[in-house]
Amino acid sequence: MMKSKLKKICWSVTLFLILNPLISVVLLVLYLVFSSAYSLNQVLGISAFALVFSVLTNLSITMGFHRLYAHKSYEAHPLLEWILLFISSGAFQGSALKWASDHRVHHKYEDTDKDPYSIKKGFWYAHMGWMMLHQAVSLPIRAPDLEKNKLVKFQHDYYLICAIAVGYILPLFAGALMGNALLGLVIAGGLRIFLTQQSTFFVNSLSHMLGKTPYAVEKTAKDSLFVALLTHGEGYHNFHHKFQMDYRNGIRWYHWDPTKWSIQLAALIGLAKKLRTVQFSEILKAKLEVESLKFKNSLFYKEKLEPLSKKLIESQARIEKLKKEYSQAKDQKVFDLKAEIELIKIEIQSLKKSWRVLIRVAQLRI
Ligand SMILES: [Zn+2]
Ligand SMILES: [Zn+2]
Repeated sequence: MMKSKLKKICWSVTLFLILNPLISVVLLVLYLVFSSAYSLNQVLGISAFALVFSVLTNLSITMGFHRLYAHKSYEAHPLLEWILLFISSGAFQGSALKWASDHRVHHKYEDTDKDPYSIKKGFWYAHMGWMMLHQAVSLPIRAPDLEKNKLVKFQHDYYLICAIAVGYILPLFAGALMGNALLGLVIAGGLRIFLTQQSTFFVNSLSHMLGKTPYAVEKTAKDSLFVALLTHGEGYHNFHHKFQMDYRNGIRWYHWDPTKWSIQLAALIGLAKKLRTVQFSEILKAKLEVESLKFKNSLFYKEKLEPLSKKLIESQARIEKLKKEYSQAKDQKVFDLKAEIELIKIEIQSLKKSWRVLIRVAQLRI
């Protein structure tokens, strides 16, 4: 019994996940306590570098592995692809090809037994446990589009060398440049890898546990600002699971989504293009559906909520169409369209107010 359980464990990954932080912490503490060959400035400088490197590593995963390769939510210039693949190698999360392929399976079979990191198997399993089993680690790669990408294929074929070079050797050299190679290796190498990994792992665990479900109540994926802060914007996970092709996870400008802002910045300097977004009328439709779900079988829904919801969605779709026309219009048409857009905006605001009142009334009626 015990023997068959042990056989299921993927020891290379398991030992790495445990030993990397353990050895790093022990080495760091011993060195700081018993050695006098370092200065406070070196510790602070290398820690600052590790923090910046850690953020960049996470962004290369969220912006690269996730939104670019797994979901194709925008197109990247080869230079940006090169940068993303280079930095992400140091995250020790597998190649972009394998990561994106597994992630597509996660979306396709979400919350079922076929989901490689299903939250239905518990927090620990979704967070890290799944990686410790052969069954999940050795899922076959099914991403023919990515296999054709030469840069992605190169990273996959030489993954281990790339990972060690970027994950450990580069921090070692950076540390040496700052006067202490060992601190570079331990803080910007081992500990930074641990920090980066935990941030990504929270997307599979906490993002499916904490928060609200404003767009799809049937999904375990949730929207949470707290998780977004931990995961560089991936915490708006309910929206993401509902509209996975959208390059944004936090759709409002103020939603904490550094990954979205990085993609926008890349587009601004010509390194990204064709940023895909879902029409706001579609998003509104999903939101209204969730808000009125409990009243769906009532007469009040049929008579009041349903017609108002249709009107709101239609007005939203109309304003989006007009905005598109407005961006291409010339001369007098610009003024006509501007006026029409302003009028519909007022109409939408008033319809939204009516919606909120009707929802409150519906709640009082049950
Ligand atoms: Zn998910
Ligand atoms: Zn995703």
